[in-house]
Amino acid sequence: MKLSYPVTKLPLVGSYYAQKLQKLGIRTVKDLLYHVPNRYLDYRNLSKIKDLKPGETATCKGEIVFFKNQYTRTGKKMQIAKIADSTGEITVVWFNQPFLIRIFKKGTELILAGKIDWFGSTKAFISPDYEIKKEGKKSIHTARLVPIYPETQGVSSKWLRSRIDAAFNLANIPEEYLPKPVLTEFTLPDIASSIASVHFPSSLEEAKKGVRRLAFDEFLFLEIISQQRKRYWQENKSVFNLKVDKTLFNRFLKALPFKLTFSQERSIAEIDKDLKSSTPMNRLLEGDVGSGKTVVAAYACFAAFANSLQSVIMAPTQILAQQHFETLQKLFADFKIRIRLITSAGEEGDAGSADLHIGTHALIHKKVDFGGVAVCVIDEQHRFGVEQRSHLVKITGKARSAPHVLTMTATPIPRTIALTIYGDLDLSTLDELPRGRIPVTTWIVPPVKRKAFYEWMRDIIKTQKIQVYLICPLIEESEAEIFSQVKSTKVEYEKIKNIYPELNVALLHGKMKSKEKNKVLSLFKKGQVDILVTTPVVEVGIDVPNASIMVIEGAERFGLAQLHQLRGRVGRGKKKSYCILLTESKSPKVHERLGALKKTLSGFELAELDLKMRGPGEIYGLTQHGFPELKIASWTDTFLLKNAKKVAQNAMDNPLKYKKLLKEAESKNIILN
Ligand code: ADP
Ligand code: MG
Repeated sequence: MKLSYPVTKLPLVGSYYAQKLQKLGIRTVKDLLYHVPNRYLDYRNLSKIKDLKPGETATCKGEIVFFKNQYTRTGKKMQIAKIADSTGEITVVWFNQPFLIRIFKKGTELILAGKIDWFGSTKAFISPDYEIKKEGKKSIHTARLVPIYPETQGVSSKWLRSRIDAAFNLANIPEEYLPKPVLTEFTLPDIASSIASVHFPSSLEEAKKGVRRLAFDEFLFLEIISQQRKRYWQENKSVFNLKVDKTLFNRFLKALPFKLTFSQERSIAEIDKDLKSSTPMNRLLEGDVGSGKTVVAAYACFAAFANSLQSVIMAPTQILAQQHFETLQKLFADFKIRIRLITSAGEEGDAGSADLHIGTHALIHKKVDFGGVAVCVIDEQHRFGVEQRSHLVKITGKARSAPHVLTMTATPIPRTIALTIYGDLDLSTLDELPRGRIPVTTWIVPPVKRKAFYEWMRDIIKTQKIQVYLICPLIEESEAEIFSQVKSTKVEYEKIKNIYPELNVALLHGKMKSKEKNKVLSLFKKGQVDILVTTPVVEVGIDVPNASIMVIEGAERFGLAQLHQLRGRVGRGKKKSYCILLTESKSPKVHERLGALKKTLSGFELAELDLKMRGPGEIYGLTQHGFPELKIASWTDTFLLKNAKKVAQNAMDNPLKYKKLLKEAESKNIILN
């Protein structure tokens, strides 16, 4: 059986399971073999029944001598069995598995693994793992190091074990694609035995080595893909050499309502250099919310204008596009730059012959006729798909002459990670906030203090004319069917209106018509709304300096990165700002996480902290922002990452030596094909 076959080619895997497996990222037989356990249960040592002691975890073999279904007092079904070997008998209890009576006959040989406990006054296995002993077949679920896999609803580790076993026996052996010297240099086992040791290890040591090899490969392919993209981009010739002379540059600076921060200056200088080079710019501007990315982007657009060429800014939401439109109109007021706003709601500004096109996805969908776009800015780039981004670049550029591209993100990611996932981009960072900002104070408010908090807020709104964002709890995917985000926002809105009948409370959510949204938002900007109750994700890019309190309901449901982003909406004006985290959770873990937010105001520091606090593979914000989630490797394993990078570089430099590896990588790369 080919590794590339869909999982449905395996026995007992139909479309029902195929669908569930997709949730685990498993589509092919190969994906299934690369599904790596989280941990192993050590069920290697078979004990004699007479030696079993309550409190211990044990494995033993025996024959069924008794089995019956029994109802508990609460009406649940319980299964009681007795198993015997030559040394004695032990009771076994399961719950809610009445079907077992059809499989377990008197005399059936079973292997049991699990915890021994007291059942009344007799010792018993309670809900053990079991496996029927088949003549000549090795056991999968017991009597060995038993893998526990990442699971999903309806797909248990037990099911995965049996299907992985089938796949392992039926599928072709994966061919090694790494050259021998590489395996030797980094002490990596070959791919076939790595897969075997991950699923059927004879020791934990061996399992670990197998997992390490697969983790290495995961990093390696990420590195290869980003380096390939980089080289592919570098084949572009820059047809736009954008020069801005000193006088004009000074005029640009003079038109700004503020002095640039040091990192804004540095980023602008980096961009300036790119715009003059022979390869078009492909740069990522990474900077915390409020760090002032817009003005840096404005400079790139200004450079295009200074050379009589056009530029484009694409933003993920209409509100953001509108805001950029207004900001840049003000910023460029002295320069006669014709700006056009294009969204699905229509057009504004200098239609037809514009120098700067600002818009949403509509820029792509409306088949806007661009003439000579030299600079392409993509704001909040993680909110767009890779395809959308490259599509915009394609339609604005011409064959092999891409425009200069500046992408921007407010997701602070630790540098090591950024260099891998964004390895194809040059990186500029804004690592400071504009001067004169008053640091935002963060409070965690538990249920007992909630009432006092609501009163404090009433008071401060009235006395200081402060405005408030109130973010509703994030509805998780599993709850979404019962309770939509919009519904929950409306409920919250009613609640807040009841608490503050004398204040102006407004509602903003993603399902509102854009006209209504704009109306609410402009009222908020004008200071005519005291509390804006809004959905978590949709409207986060807005800039209203007088809004000084950010209240986040159900804070424990958000990731650190998200909370930090939300907090970045306040602290932009002259008034002291607050970020209030409302939570009902008592979990120490939650409080540790939220506490981190109190301790630091730096997004990069938080990202590092988040990385340390979380287990392997996850990093908050990353998956939410559409990054590839690591399935096997851990971002904390910088040593392995460094080595993988080295091999990737070698492979790119010596493609002949690494032919097999590059072919393997090709099958994973969706961007270039
Ligand atoms: P970002 O897009 O990075 O979240 P913005 O570009 O929206 O941030 O800037 C946030 C706010 O800070 C805006 O009101 C902007 O006018 C202001 N700002 C930007 N740079 C500076 C600066 N150097 N000094 C003072 N204020 C600044
Ligand atoms: Mg921004």
